[in-house]
Amino acid sequence: QIVTRIAPSPTGYMHIGTARTALFNWLYARARGGRFVLRVEDTDRARSTPEATQAILDGLDWLGLDYDGEAISQFERADRHREVAEQMLAQGHAYKCFSTQEEIAAFREAARAEGRSTLFLSPWRDTPESEHPDAPFAIRLKAPREGTTVIRDRVQGDVTIQNATLDDMILLRSDGTPTYMHAVVVDDHDMGITHVIRGDDHLNNAARQVQIFNAMGWPEPVWAHIPLIHGDDGKKLSKRHGATGVMEYAEMGIPASAMRNYLARLGWSHGDDELFTDEQALEWFDLDGIGKSPSRLDMKKLANVTGWHIARTEDADLVAQINHFLKLTGQSELSQAQQDGLTRAMYCLKDRAKSLPDLLDKGRFVLENRPFDYDEKARAALDPVSRGILKELTAQLQNASWSRDTLEGVLNAAAQSHGLKFGKLAGPLRAALSGRTVSPSVYDMMLVIGRDETLARLDEAAS
Ligand code: GLU
Repeated sequence: QIVTRIAPSPTGYMHIGTARTALFNWLYARARGGRFVLRVEDTDRARSTPEATQAILDGLDWLGLDYDGEAISQFERADRHREVAEQMLAQGHAYKCFSTQEEIAAFREAARAEGRSTLFLSPWRDTPESEHPDAPFAIRLKAPREGTTVIRDRVQGDVTIQNATLDDMILLRSDGTPTYMHAVVVDDHDMGITHVIRGDDHLNNAARQVQIFNAMGWPEPVWAHIPLIHGDDGKKLSKRHGATGVMEYAEMGIPASAMRNYLARLGWSHGDDELFTDEQALEWFDLDGIGKSPSRLDMKKLANVTGWHIARTEDADLVAQINHFLKLTGQSELSQAQQDGLTRAMYCLKDRAKSLPDLLDKGRFVLENRPFDYDEKARAALDPVSRGILKELTAQLQNASWSRDTLEGVLNAAAQSHGLKFGKLAGPLRAALSGRTVSPSVYDMMLVIGRDETLARLDEAAS
């Protein structure tokens, strides 16, 4: 069975790179009947606050990336990491190193000054136990000094590292705490991870991790190191390129389905397909589709993806997402009546919507109650002549059957009788029906709010 994982370090928020990695792992496992698990790499105690961990859970939750089983805390597994380090020691794959940090720092400084390699090779590697001092020691991997270590990467191809360029990494520090590199391997092994899909900033770590897998005789996972996300100018992603935290997108009112589509395309492709559903992504996602060059954040593309997803989402689902968005951004949620109204109106709002708040804005005509707060332009559109025409219309609409065809007939006739183009009539009508001059079509508004409310609004605007 395939087991993938997301192994974020709590940083206080979920970076979109982490969100994308989570999505790739989720897609890969879910499409193959596998498991997708979460390990929180919370060994940095200063940063690993409950809030920082919660931020990861919130990001996954919003994106709809459910994980299997309980979230694993790396920190809580320290005993197990120690146990494996000691096992490696006992089996001769690791050794006790009594070099102090001061000694190592002094060595490096001297090497730098003399232009020699700063790679620290511990003098304790081959010292027999009988010559060990009674002093604190770190446990170091007895890494191969000759030959190469090869990472067979599904994205990067074979990456070969000369073993002579790697030092004997520390597995367990002299205070008994495991190093990150060691903990990752023990955890990935114990959690049965079969595929490690992660950012290529971890490619160098993979070489060291392979050495630990080999020393333990554990099977290596399949590696897939994905190029990082860059800004639209091709430079390393930073705040100035756009939002870097995934929840910032939630707060902009991007639906999670659109974000999944967009994130999937950051670094992965399936032919020319830009717009797709979760079902399609699940069907198509494969490691072969991951590109070798960094992807670029493209807000225009995101807007396009968002519009497509909103247009094809069920009306009631959109309303539920809007309520979630309001809650997330600290605004009051819609009442049941507003939700019902918005659901009825949704068909005429969702076609060119750019975000969830955009739907709310377009749907104001059904969300707000009389008396209307006409905006400045609407007030200007309701000049005395227009108000006179609206008054006449009120009478004509009293008995008209409430269908698009009839309403079109009535409004066109009214415009004609005053020698007006339809647009000239639509302006004040819009203002009367929505309090604005930009709104869905007047017919849609009239059909959605119904006769009584239409007449009441015209009446109010005319008087
Ligand atoms: N904790 C690492 C990070 O947040 C990921 C480690 C891994 O995927 O192996 O960048």
